[in-house]
Amino acid sequence: MSTIFQRIIDREIPADIVYEDHLCLAFRDVAPQAPVHVLVIPKQEIRSVDAIKQGDAALLGHLWVVIGQIARDLGVADSGYRVVTNCGKLGGQSVDHLHFHILGGRQLDWPPG
Ligand code: 5GP
Repeated sequence: MSTIFQRIIDREIPADIVYEDHLCLAFRDVAPQAPVHVLVIPKQEIRSVDAIKQGDAALLGHLWVVIGQIARDLGVADSGYRVVTNCGKLGGQSVDHLHFHILGGRQLDWPPG
């Protein structure tokens, strides 16, 4: 059973895509929690941070480079932003495809809820 994010990768359902390359896709969250709320996902199916393997290290490094580039492109890098990945049930993960939230454009509280 493919996740909603795999269906976005496969263009089975629409998304507001802000970046794409051969390794990853980034699109705006359907329920934004900040003025800028983008999800960055690998095209490779990885369930969560807990499923990352040593062989995924180059891919993960690439994702972090892309995250920084998107933050600059969307104008939140200077003011500051947050990158979040939720893992598992208590971590609040609701889609079982690894994703990084980029949140920016407002003052973010700490600790998170
Ligand atoms: P999680 O709760 O797993 O950390 O984050 C999943 C995120 O995916 C949520 O912020 C949720 O709003 C977003 N989301 C769920 N379904 C869709 C969808 O169909 N399209 C988009 N763009 N975002 C989605």
